[in-house]
Amino acid sequence: YEVTSAPVMSEKQELEGVVLVFHDITELKRVEKMRKDFVANVSHELKTPITSIRGFAETLLEEVPNNKEINNQFLTIIFNESKRLQALIDDLLELTKLEREGIQLNYEHFHIDEWIETPLKVIKDQAEKKKIHLYTEIQPNLSYYGDPDRLQQVLLNLAINATNYTPEDGEVRILIHKKETYLEWKIEDTGIGIPQEEQSRIFERFYRVDRARSRNTGGTGLGLAIVKHIVESHEGDIRVFSEVNKGTEFIIQLPILHDR
Ligand code: ADP
Repeated sequence: YEVTSAPVMSEKQELEGVVLVFHDITELKRVEKMRKDFVANVSHELKTPITSIRGFAETLLEEVPNNKEINNQFLTIIFNESKRLQALIDDLLELTKLEREGIQLNYEHFHIDEWIETPLKVIKDQAEKKKIHLYTEIQPNLSYYGDPDRLQQVLLNLAINATNYTPEDGEVRILIHKKETYLEWKIEDTGIGIPQEEQSRIFERFYRVDRARSRNTGGTGLGLAIVKHIVESHEGDIRVFSEVNKGTEFIIQLPILHDR
């Protein structure tokens, strides 16, 4: 607690008492810590690819390797690291914008069957590449009123994560059903899981359970922060259930709203 005090004086200017005000600063401290962590993480995430780009470019400038293969190898690293940087900056700008201006949702009526086609194609490709079985269970003839593009982004993020954090031969399941007053999505995998004590933190910007490993997946550590933002702007709710080495399940509940 932070305490401020003020004397209480009588009309004759005699001290009658003291007013003490207790401010609960735990929340303030927490927000301040998150901000500091965020700045430290951004710097780290930006520096890593830049260091690598600089290093390989310098080497090439000093001496062009005679070997075409090595030459290509270096250029490929430079190319991939620039793409990483680009993705990072895009996500960062997007998240900052979401947090500052709130999210601009373009509400539309859409059919789930049609809406899911495009993201599903991407997810199928990714699953195939990683030799992961993909199971989908989409209740037919569902429609929803929400922002179709943003919701596709949510599905893609979660499903791509699921394939990223699941080893070969594992399974990813996507289930979408209508419950009484809401649409329920489940994105499940049989992957590496998330330790209990980290589960509440994965929605924070840049939070990663295992930095070194996550970096290889090409993600930016911002995906789930963006996902949570979009779901909550739809007045929905996202929860995670996970067990290490068993798998992870994300459950999203989106209220069925009517035109407004
Ligand atoms: P990233 O770009 O690192 O995937 P996200 O914000 O999408 O960032 O996810 C944050 C972290 O949560 C990941 O780095 C990973 O450690 C963990 N995570 C997310 N989804 C899964 C999953 N399906 N299985 C295991 N870990 C996951």
